[in-house]
Amino acid sequence: MTSEKFTVEKVLSIQRWADNLFSFTMTRPAHFKFTAGQFARIGIKVDGELVVRAYSVVSSPYDEVLEFFSIVVPDGAFTSRLQHLQVGDELYLEKIPYGFLTLARYQQPLPHDLWLLATGTGLAPFLSMLQDFETWQQYQKIFLVYSVRSQAELAYVEKIKQIHEDFGEGRPDFSFIPVITREPNAPLHERLPVLIANGALEQFAGQAFNPETSHIMLCGNPQMVDDTKEALKQRGLTMNRRGVGNIAVENYW
Ligand code: FAD
Repeated sequence: MTSEKFTVEKVLSIQRWADNLFSFTMTRPAHFKFTAGQFARIGIKVDGELVVRAYSVVSSPYDEVLEFFSIVVPDGAFTSRLQHLQVGDELYLEKIPYGFLTLARYQQPLPHDLWLLATGTGLAPFLSMLQDFETWQQYQKIFLVYSVRSQAELAYVEKIKQIHEDFGEGRPDFSFIPVITREPNAPLHERLPVLIANGALEQFAGQAFNPETSHIMLCGNPQMVDDTKEALKQRGLTMNRRGVGNIAVENYW
């Protein structure tokens, strides 16, 4: 891999949410333009070799810095090092962004109700979309469904409230719906495909999925993405291909 593909950026801040979760911001070079929902490729040097991983951008396309939300995989080649990141450290950033998990991909149906379904760090691209005024202008209703294992892993809750206030004021209905799978007392605690199959998610949201109006995005754990996709198909929703259809997905591994 040639270093011309990358720029060297500086870490500006770090926020730790739990032992296995943290966020960081870094400098954003002027040339790095992206659409909300896209991902960057970030590199660190390990024994002289560049190790690179995909990371969805959390921050909005209009922010001066780039923010990312990361898991720590104990023996992971990348995150076992990334977790020791300090302010002022250098990271490599590939010059161009990637990815098609963007709202612009939808041509039919026209925007009406938007469902953003994430597991864990799969929340990242949705935070970027929600910090883009266009998202709020386009949709009548927005549902952010965020599935984690424990309360401690429920990151960004205050930020989500703030985003709603800053971007969604006087705008369409917005529901933030946490799902906590290892807490039986949580209002929603089953896996997303189960909550869709048994109707509990729609009941909680006060809105039914509708093949004529719903845009549904899934991001995170590939097992969740696959199973949820199947549960939605059973309800008559279709994969978005060439702009047409309800469901768009991104797998993190
Ligand atoms: P890897 O060797 O890459 O992964 C080892 C194992 O860890 C995987 O097999 C899987 O079981 C588990 N794992 C990997 N990523 C995650 C995760 N995010 N959450 C839970 N378990 C995981 N990761 C982020 O943390 N934040 C992001 O915003 C993000 N965006 C991505 C966007 C895309 C398009 C893709 C393809 C991946 C994204 N990932 C993201 C995953 C990321 O690229 C790395 O896999 C992750 O940083 C772990 O790297 P690693 O080398 O430590 O472990």
